[in-house]
Amino acid sequence: MPDFSLYSNEISIEEKIALAKYLWEKHGKDLASDSEIDRLLGLYKKEISKSYELMERFGVVTECAMCAAEVPGGGCCGAGIEDWYDEFVLLLNLLLERKIPTERLGEKDCLFLGPIGCQLFARHHFCINYLCSRINDLLNPAELSDLRAQSGKELFLCWQLEQILRTRLNN
Ligand code: SF4
Ligand code: SF4
Repeated sequence: MPDFSLYSNEISIEEKIALAKYLWEKHGKDLASDSEIDRLLGLYKKEISKSYELMERFGVVTECAMCAAEVPGGGCCGAGIEDWYDEFVLLLNLLLERKIPTERLGEKDCLFLGPIGCQLFARHHFCINYLCSRINDLLNPAELSDLRAQSGKELFLCWQLEQILRTRLNN
């Protein structure tokens, strides 16, 4: 497991989840009816699905599930990583009609880790970008390049949506 350091520990993950749910209940309808947000959410959803499809096709999902079963703390999905999330990425999950997990599987696991892998749909950039040596060894250069390019598309849309949400919700 890499040497992580927390950079978003000002409020607990439980408080961030509660804040995301509050923002969704208070502003969710207005945000979802905004044509630009709706357009970007549609594109974002497609790119996340494409990323998962690519990871399945290249065997990454299976490899990570095996790793998570072998290594305490779920390989790179250890306890504490959930603290890196902020309310905006969590809110994106709710806007995409996805649930935010709140039950931790094991005390060494990330709060969002499930029995067969991550249960979040919209994820932090670390979770999208991190490919350990096991995955680097598994994939050939063309597959790695395809996965990196796909991750970039997903991350760009996430970034665009976060900027809009921050602007709309801070006004
Ligand atoms: S990215 Fe690597 S360390 Fe993380 S779960 Fe997958 S195989 Fe394990
Ligand atoms: S959010 Fe998902 S991918 Fe990221 S560390 Fe937690 S379980 Fe793993």
